[in-house]
Amino acid sequence: MLVIAVFAAATIAVLLLLAYFQAPILVWTIAAGAALAAKSTVFGFSTTANYWVAALFLAVAAVLNIVPLRRLLISDHILAIFRRILPDMSQTEKEAIDAGTVWWDADLFSGKPDWNKLLAIPQPKLSAEEQAFLDGPCEEICAMTNDWEVTHERYDLSPQVWQYAKDKGFLGMIIPKKYGGLGFSAIAHSAVVLKLSTRSNALGVSVMVPNSLGPAELLLHYGTDEQKNYYLPRLAKGLEVPCFALTSPEAGSDAAAIPDYGVVSRGTYQGKEVLGMRVTWDKRYITLGPVATLLGLAFRLYDPEKLLGEKTDLGITCALVPTNHPGVIIGRRHLPLNAVFQNGPNSGKDVFMPIDWIIGGKDYAGKGWMMLMGCLAAGRSISLPTSSVGGAKGLARITGAYARVRSQFKTPIGKLEGVEEALGRIAANCYMMDGVRIMTAGAVDLGEKPAVISAIAKYHMTERARKIVDDSMDIHGGKGICLGPNNWVGRGYQVIPVGITVEGANILTRTLIIFGQGAIRCHPYVLREMRSAKEMTGAAASIEFDDAFTSHIGHTISNGVRAFVHGITSSRLGQVPRDGAPETRHYYRFSSRLAAAFAFLADVSMLAMGGALKRKEKISGRLGDVLSMLYLVSATLKHYEDQGRQKEDIPLIRWVVRDLLYQAQVAIDQILSNFPIKSLATFLRFVIFPLGMSFRPPLDSRNHECAKIVLEPGAARDRLTAGMYIGKGESDPTGVLEAAFLATIACEPVDEKLRKAVKKGKLVPQPGIDLGSIALKNQVISADEYAQWQRKEALRRNVIKVDDFPQDFGRAELASKFAHEKTPAAKAA
Ligand SMILES: Cc1cc2nc3c(=O)[nH]c(=O)nc-3n(C[C@H](O)[C@H](O)[C@H](O)COP(=O)(O)OP(=O)(O)OC[C@H]3O[C@@H](n4cnc5c(N)ncnc54)[C@H](O)[C@@H]3O)c2cc1C
Repeated sequence: MLVIAVFAAATIAVLLLLAYFQAPILVWTIAAGAALAAKSTVFGFSTTANYWVAALFLAVAAVLNIVPLRRLLISDHILAIFRRILPDMSQTEKEAIDAGTVWWDADLFSGKPDWNKLLAIPQPKLSAEEQAFLDGPCEEICAMTNDWEVTHERYDLSPQVWQYAKDKGFLGMIIPKKYGGLGFSAIAHSAVVLKLSTRSNALGVSVMVPNSLGPAELLLHYGTDEQKNYYLPRLAKGLEVPCFALTSPEAGSDAAAIPDYGVVSRGTYQGKEVLGMRVTWDKRYITLGPVATLLGLAFRLYDPEKLLGEKTDLGITCALVPTNHPGVIIGRRHLPLNAVFQNGPNSGKDVFMPIDWIIGGKDYAGKGWMMLMGCLAAGRSISLPTSSVGGAKGLARITGAYARVRSQFKTPIGKLEGVEEALGRIAANCYMMDGVRIMTAGAVDLGEKPAVISAIAKYHMTERARKIVDDSMDIHGGKGICLGPNNWVGRGYQVIPVGITVEGANILTRTLIIFGQGAIRCHPYVLREMRSAKEMTGAAASIEFDDAFTSHIGHTISNGVRAFVHGITSSRLGQVPRDGAPETRHYYRFSSRLAAAFAFLADVSMLAMGGALKRKEKISGRLGDVLSMLYLVSATLKHYEDQGRQKEDIPLIRWVVRDLLYQAQVAIDQILSNFPIKSLATFLRFVIFPLGMSFRPPLDSRNHECAKIVLEPGAARDRLTAGMYIGKGESDPTGVLEAAFLATIACEPVDEKLRKAVKKGKLVPQPGIDLGSIALKNQVISADEYAQWQRKEALRRNVIKVDDFPQDFGRAELASKFAHEKTPAAKAA
């Protein structure tokens, strides 16, 4: 009996070891042969039995190890089934899948992230010139911008701010120097957008859009030399204001379905007959559209007379159209939630334009979708993640300050536990978000176009910003609700849905893109299997499929075994980076466990649900959440290393990493609870959570430490909010808040004296007389202390005040204030 038990245990241990390390088939075969031989010896099989077992073993070993035999008897049959069940992909789906690159996301998807590789990624750094731009023109343009004036009075940036932005090259940050642009790195581009977004959303968006997916980016990648040499210098200097028009009333998220069309034909341009296109379009929501001079336009191009070649339906095409071209109708505006950046519809009917207005010339007719998908990731990695981080930093700093200045129940509200809970969340999420911003922009600087990571960053940064602004609003109470020049949070609350909706609306991004694209692009074998099934034929397809498929099986088994082993050993065997900080090593281990569990679950889900998984968005959305949490944890841990392991920041890491791991666990639990095949779900739960769900939510004590970071002036607070614009002077609403914050803290000993004196009955508060002057009279405080107390009180009153308006909200006064000025919108009209 003992012999049987020992033998069984040894066999299981060997199997687990082979699976854990994903041993090749040959090693499995040798091990199986050795196990059979040992069994035969130990249990004394008869000679006949030995012959039969040996014959069976050799037959199976031959089929599995001799590749042509394996193809013939196994993989070719599976390939045939695969070809039948795999849905055909449209050209636009193929182009979306092919676009961009995979990076750290592929490591996470492998189930075995190499943390040494993560920590070896170079830390992105600003050049001296980029830093000077941030300290000079960026500070200047922020100081010139008054957000209340922008959002309420002008409904636009001031003409001076527009001109300054153009003159200093803000609209051409991504354009190389040889064309007159600033030629900034992605991290500098991100730093500029971050700073501007902390001053005014309209300012941030107006600068962000020309540097994101639009005419400049498309020209740089696909433009003809003539187009580049003409337009790029003009865009760099703001002589052209660009916009890019894709969305139409009928095609929003499903942008490839745009009904806008062009027909290749001959026509007259500048008095000559030329080959061109008659284009009809109706676009909406186009940012900078109302003030644009150069319209990037996407439409489907048809060539019924075959003037360009044999194809009649050429596909989506992108052209550059000057907005003063006859027939272009532009200039009206939408009002996107009082963010008031320029945004509006535009249209045209049978507008004739030369064929060489197509970006890249006629050779690029019909290649518009490929061009757009190819360029999407860079902008999506920067624009919305960065502006969300700007919002988070701004709110972390000002909410902490306000919560220290504002007292209720004789206590700064930030020290009341309920408020502290929200503050701690703001601080910890802000830290993580900055890590994600830097790592993602850094990827772009390394030459990546991270398609899946940019979707993760876009979705999760905008969603975290939404949570942060909700928390901040709650902490500000009525002060956040009553709009006016002294409300620094209300506009942020209003505009959050814009970031949620644009560049891939968030529900779609979460449920369709992150896992959908990730499962195909980042998975080590799925794309190879799909290509061999759909794009290859004959022996080449058979060889490729066989290799990918057998490796895929080994990969799935290995991840399942690794998830199980990590589960029963509480992640003790999880990989850690060689040079990682000792205080964060356990987080790498936990993440290794999570990555193995995710990869296993993803594979089994794909196997169990096949193509239907695409429609099961509640499952694929949650799988995307787990992948995303792994990326957010990676970026947080990397940020800690890159910032030199600042001990004061440890509470932020502890709170946020624990929260992320816990959320990932919740997502897995929900997938398993809703898994369509219940018996499989039970097996998966046993493998992934053999000892139950062990990740716990963050502790309240950590939350307290996180809140403290934004309630105290100091290096940790400055590091957390680095890069934001801080209002200057006490006439600036956020400037006065900063001053009140510092004055409140400096005056706390004086306040303490007053409190004690009142308690002991030495001071008796009197209605209508300030307590400080009574204290001075009673020699409880000195004249200097009284002056300090008075200043603090003046600043505090300034900070807690809210705005009020005349009955007409000052509209009559405003009309006369701007009567003499022509706004850019008026000029465009
Ligand atoms: C302020 C603003 C600025 C913009 N700027 C530009 C610009 O400069 N240029 C430009 O071309 N466009 C621009 N857009 C358009 C923007 O990209 C679209 O709004 C976006 O693509 C969503 O389209 P939609 O608003 O029509 O929503 P819809 O497509 O109608 O979507 C509605 C909801 O359904 C969800 N949904 C849709 N399909 C799926 C799916 N398969 N699975 C799950 N959920 C799904 C979406 O996530 C969303 O929540 C802008 C929009 C706004 C509001």
